[in-house]
Amino acid sequence: MADDLIHAILNDGIINYSYENKFESKNKRPCPLLNLTIADRKSTRKFQFVWYSKYKWITGSQVRNKPYCFYCLLLRGDKTWSHEVMSNMKNFKRKAIKHAISERHLIYQEQFQLLEEQILKEHFLSNSLFKGTSIDVQNDLIACITDVVNTKIRNDLKSAKFVSIQADVTTHVSYKSQMSIILRYVVDKNIEERFIGFFDVSKDKSAVGLSNILLAEITNWNINDKIICQTYDGVAVMAGKQNGVQAIIKKSIQKPYLFTAMPIN
Ligand SMILES: [Zn+2]
Repeated sequence: MADDLIHAILNDGIINYSYENKFESKNKRPCPLLNLTIADRKSTRKFQFVWYSKYKWITGSQVRNKPYCFYCLLLRGDKTWSHEVMSNMKNFKRKAIKHAISERHLIYQEQFQLLEEQILKEHFLSNSLFKGTSIDVQNDLIACITDVVNTKIRNDLKSAKFVSIQADVTTHVSYKSQMSIILRYVVDKNIEERFIGFFDVSKDKSAVGLSNILLAEITNWNINDKIICQTYDGVAVMAGKQNGVQAIIKKSIQKPYLFTAMPIN
């Protein structure tokens, strides 16, 4: 019977089941009605379907017509309830309760609940495709994250009425000069401050060179009409009133109310 999961697992051997297979099976506990007669001292009763509700760990194979412990079966726990066929079905309820409170079963019950985290740990330890050390994979991941963050910023900027731009030039550990650019705006009454990137300015640190990058980013983020303030440090290339970055941006943006803020060095 192809749809008898328990029979299939026992046939294949659980050792051949990957963590992914186990995780897929986690929420598919088979609960077939078994044609079993349970003989206790006082009475003879049939296997009751309601026991699947009472004992969340019990599963069954219709082909084998046997009950098993789903946790112990998937995680190779107590053999009596997972691999070895019970010698007899006498005192079934007493055996079930004894198993349910046994230390071995409780350990596998906990592991079953945490099957997803196990899977993740195993995946990272054994997966040959994703080691997290590949430069290509790392760059792909960074590109994906950047895309998500940038989409969020673009959506915010659409609803923001005004935007302030802030820039500073620093030297990277590799001795490259880079300009960082930050946008500030208000969305839903909250002040947002977003870093939009480092830009290599090693080849041209002139006011014109830096301004070109800033203007390109202002256009890129489609905020030409929203810029009301620019903030830089006080060095001449940035702050120069005639030819500094702030002056060039002012002329280019052509906003009468555009002002410049510069922290005191
Ligand atoms: Zn068990």
